[in-house]
Amino acid sequence: SILVLNTPVNQSNTSAALFPRSSVVREVERLKEQRERRRALQDEQRRQRSALKSKDPNNPNWEVALMVRTYRDQLQLNPLRFLSPRGARVQQITVCVRKRPMSRRELQGKAVDIISVPNRDSLIVHELRHKVDLTKFLEHHKFRFDYTFDEACGNTLVYEHTARPLIRTMFEGGNATCFAYGQTGSGKTHTMGGEFCGKVQDCTTGIYALAARDVFSELAKPKYRDQGASVTCSYFEIYGSKVFDLLLPEKPMLRVLEDGRQQVVIVGLTQMPVTKVEEVLGIIEQGNRERTSGQTSVNIKSSRSHAVFQMSLFLPGKCEACGKCSFVDLAGNERGADTQSANLQTRREGAEINKSLLALKECIRALSRHSSHLPFRGSKLTQVLRDSFIGGEQNKTCMIAMISPGLSSVENTLNTLRYADRVKELIAKEDDPG
Ligand code: ADP
Ligand code: MG
Repeated sequence: SILVLNTPVNQSNTSAALFPRSSVVREVERLKEQRERRRALQDEQRRQRSALKSKDPNNPNWEVALMVRTYRDQLQLNPLRFLSPRGARVQQITVCVRKRPMSRRELQGKAVDIISVPNRDSLIVHELRHKVDLTKFLEHHKFRFDYTFDEACGNTLVYEHTARPLIRTMFEGGNATCFAYGQTGSGKTHTMGGEFCGKVQDCTTGIYALAARDVFSELAKPKYRDQGASVTCSYFEIYGSKVFDLLLPEKPMLRVLEDGRQQVVIVGLTQMPVTKVEEVLGIIEQGNRERTSGQTSVNIKSSRSHAVFQMSLFLPGKCEACGKCSFVDLAGNERGADTQSANLQTRREGAEINKSLLALKECIRALSRHSSHLPFRGSKLTQVLRDSFIGGEQNKTCMIAMISPGLSSVENTLNTLRYADRVKELIAKEDDPG
């Protein structure tokens, strides 16, 4: 309205008659300019009105939501959508991040999504901070990884860029290992085991099953078929420092032994021969049932254990596997509450989980350096996965760090990203000739 008052009314009505042509043009331009300014003002007012609308008494986070949206509006978005990875070379160690979508409950609770994934290899965490005078501001933490998957990426796309390139490793006689790392509820089991529909999991959509499908199509090639190659599956759980076989009823505990040649053996572990994908799906379902049996919620105990699904390749006449793929759904990495817990058992478990995740990082570091010193005895997890970390170039590892999008997870999210980042940082240093 201020702009309208500024308009010289007496001139504009009579301009055509009183002014020469050039001033008419000037007048038209001036009016046009005014119109544009008015539009800009209206846009701004509309923006402010919608901001006020989001100033919802039920939503204490409207201000943060607005700040994030404002920042995001300036980003050039070009997220990962193509299915097959570009470039044929598979790195020895790949580190990726996957952001899960907001859950229905988070949306209902008006949670704020503080993660932006502008493109295929970077990610920004918008952390809410307070100045001394308590004004709110955002700190933007930027990260880079091999791949970053936003909430619109499905399991298939994630699989194509992470585990799929590793299948060949197994057939070339190496050990391929893929880890799902992150806090409880961030999507590890969804990614590895398959999508949930309520509490029912469709295991055909998980990385285990997608990998099995590719293993069998590779196995069907004359090169392997003519040699009589075969595949077996194992599925076990590491809880504390104990190993349980998920493919036997009541998941019995198994002993882990190291022989004279430092070979680690899980005594009596079920190695189920499989010939087609359907059989593998049956095995995964059976294992998942054992893993979660007796639990009221999927996430109570399973979030405190590591689950390892393995496929091994055998050639006739050899009793040792000549190649292996391991998929590990790691225990949740959130440990803050554990250290304060009154329950001794909980504190011990938490400490054990911490120890195993730190040992894992050290072992991946040793692998990237081709180091002869492998700190695999640091935890049961790294001990049973020893084969994954030795043998140099032929072994490949992929870590998928899962993150939750919400503001309330920011601390765990930053911890997860820093852990993943350190793995990557080390590799970058190793590659540096200087
Ligand atoms: P975690 O194993 O890390 O504790 P879950 O895989 O159980 O986490 O995921 C927690 C919840 O979030 C589940 O209900 C799951 O269905 C949902 N979820 C996780 N990731 C996704 C995703 N990418 N898309 C849709 N829902 C997801
Ligand atoms: Mg889980």
